[in-house]
Amino acid sequence: MKSVVVFCGSSEGNDINFGQEAYALGKFLALQDIRLIYGGAKIGVMGQVAKGVLDNAGEVIGVIPKFLMKKEVFHPNLTQLIITKDMHERKLKMHELSDGIIMLPGGYGTLEEFFEMLTWGQLGLHQKPMGILNTNGFYDHLGVLLKSMVTQGFVAKSNYDMILNDVDIARLLSKMSSYDPLPAPQLINKEQL
Ligand code: AMP
Repeated sequence: MKSVVVFCGSSEGNDINFGQEAYALGKFLALQDIRLIYGGAKIGVMGQVAKGVLDNAGEVIGVIPKFLMKKEVFHPNLTQLIITKDMHERKLKMHELSDGIIMLPGGYGTLEEFFEMLTWGQLGLHQKPMGILNTNGFYDHLGVLLKSMVTQGFVAKSNYDMILNDVDIARLLSKMSSYDPLPAPQLINKEQL
């Protein structure tokens, strides 16, 4: 992977570990020469992951819609800041620029962004590795819900297995690097053409 998009909170959360792990991930990416793509904010967990990369001479591309530049306090010192016209263009741009996807703790925006990438993956629109860095066990309950979606017949086990998950940064990145994607699903029955 040459570049990874990280989705995470625009808030800091109530435990210092959320920011520290985000910073450590940023540092790890910089040392591995993996470019960070993220939402361009200076605040919250988002700001920490960018700081971790920049403090260690790595590359960061921020992608932010114009209307959020003030609210989310855009980061002035990134390698590049791409300003989009809206949220949809932002997400598409982040997707286009990345070879892998990581979610750290966050709120509604974080989940929305990660799950959209997951659904695109499920449809075979991309085959990128998708990982959750489960700092403080933050996503343990989500894991329970996802398993229940499988047992109750709403998510295929193979699509559940697309989600890589670890509490350890190096292990998560190693799982992502060696990820063997599912063959793209056949969405159209050729007999019907
Ligand atoms: P949050 O996890 O709610 O703190 O948000 C994290 C990031 O997701 C922020 O940069 C938000 O601007 C972004 N975000 C919020 N809502 C959405 C959405 N509907 N689609 C894409 N990104 C969003």
